[in-house]
Amino acid sequence: MAIEKNQVVELQYTLRDPETGEILDQSPEGNPLKFITGSGQIIPGLEREIMKMNCGESKEILVKAADAYGEKNPNAYQTVSKAELSNIPDLKEGMVLSGQAPDGSLITVRVDRIEGDNVILDLNHPMAGKDLLFEVKICDTRPATEEELAHGHVHDSPEDCNCKPDCGCKG
Ligand SMILES: [Zn+2]
Repeated sequence: MAIEKNQVVELQYTLRDPETGEILDQSPEGNPLKFITGSGQIIPGLEREIMKMNCGESKEILVKAADAYGEKNPNAYQTVSKAELSNIPDLKEGMVLSGQAPDGSLITVRVDRIEGDNVILDLNHPMAGKDLLFEVKICDTRPATEEELAHGHVHDSPEDCNCKPDCGCKG
């Protein structure tokens, strides 16, 4: 029986770059990823295939870039002068830099290319434009509780809400 909406799914996954086989991400041993189906918590192309699987099943799922983190946005590039990045040693193409956006949030950007005194930064999500290969195993499924659906996240056990402080379900 395929998985329905509003189920809590526990799954183990390994994410690889389909071209190089390099592991990009992985659920930690003994700590499967948990999400509520139908609530947009994981990338759409992956969820769609998971919904066709059964509990206990393993599968390789290739998700095209457009169904994962999207194609690269050609407008999400920014040119800065080399002098502005003079605090970074050995600046080179392909390097990933992290820093603070004007609003204080943490951002990572990739050095797309260096042209003379200019550095062109790629502000896209690091996985934008990439096809992703997931190896997935469904460990468990159960219906989400009304409380979980109301909060929009999974609780480790029905009594124990493991949610963010601002969710209002504690106290
Ligand atoms: Zn909660």
